[in-house]
Amino acid sequence: THFGFEQVKVDEKQDKVADVFHSVASKYDIMNDLMSGGVHRIWKRLTIEQSGVRRGHKVLDIAGGTGDLTMRFSRLVGAEGQVVLADINDSMLKVGRDRLMDRGITGNVEFVQANAEALPFPDNTFDCITIAFGLRNVTFKEKALASMARVLKPGGKVMVLEFSKTNNPLLTKAYDLYSFSLLPKIGKLIAGDEESYRYLAESIRMHPDQETLKGMMEEAGLSQCKYQNMTGGIVALHTGIKP
Ligand code: SAM
Repeated sequence: THFGFEQVKVDEKQDKVADVFHSVASKYDIMNDLMSGGVHRIWKRLTIEQSGVRRGHKVLDIAGGTGDLTMRFSRLVGAEGQVVLADINDSMLKVGRDRLMDRGITGNVEFVQANAEALPFPDNTFDCITIAFGLRNVTFKEKALASMARVLKPGGKVMVLEFSKTNNPLLTKAYDLYSFSLLPKIGKLIAGDEESYRYLAESIRMHPDQETLKGMMEEAGLSQCKYQNMTGGIVALHTGIKP
C-alpha cells in the first residue's frame, strides 16, 4: 500500500539518523570544531544573545546533543531557572550528560530522551525553545514545529538554528565542493566514518530554504517569524513567537 511504502521510507530515515549519531557521538565535538573551523561557536553565541533568556526562565533545547547551547543557557537562567536538554539518541545524551557533569553544570539541567515530533511536556511550559542543527534530521518537521509551538508559553520564542541556502554563487560552489568532497574525507580521517559525513552533506542539501522554513513556522501557528543569515546563508537563525 501507499502507506506501507511511506512507512518504510520513514523508518529508513529514522534508522539512518540513529546510526549516524550513535556512530559520531564520541567524536562529535571535535568534528564540529574541525568542520566549521570553530565558527559553529559564533553561530551558537549569536543564538544565545538573541534568545532573550534571563534568570528564572525555563528553556528547552531540543536535539540538544552534547549540550553546547544547554551549557550556556544553564548559566543564564541561574538556580531559579531550568534547562531541559532533549534528544532522541541515548549515545548523544550520554556524551552531553558526562560533558556537563565534568564542567560542574548540574542542578538546573535535566536530560530527557524524546522525539522532537512528540514532545513529552505540558502545553505552555517554556519561555524559549531552541533546536540547533537538529531540525533537518527530523522526519516530520511540521509535526516537530507544531509540538514546539504547543509546549511554548504565549509570548515565548522558538529558535531554529540550521544549515540553509547560500546566497552567493561562488560561495555555493566552494561550499558544495567542501561538503561533498572534503568533509567526508575529514570524517573518515578523524571519526573513521565517511558515510555519516556524506549523510550530513546530503541532509543539508535536502533541507528547506530560508523562506520555506519561515512559512512552515507560520503554518505551525507562530507569529513574527523571521530569519537572519549567518556566514552568507550557510547557516540561518529562524525565530518565531507564540501569540
Ligand atoms: N544541538 C547540538 C549542537 O548544535 O551541537 C547537536 C546537534 S546534532 C547535529 C543533531 C542532534 O539531533 C543529534 O544529537 C540527534 O540525536 C538529534 N535528533 C535527531 N533526530 C531527532 C528527533 N527526531 N528528535 C530529537 N532529537 C533528534
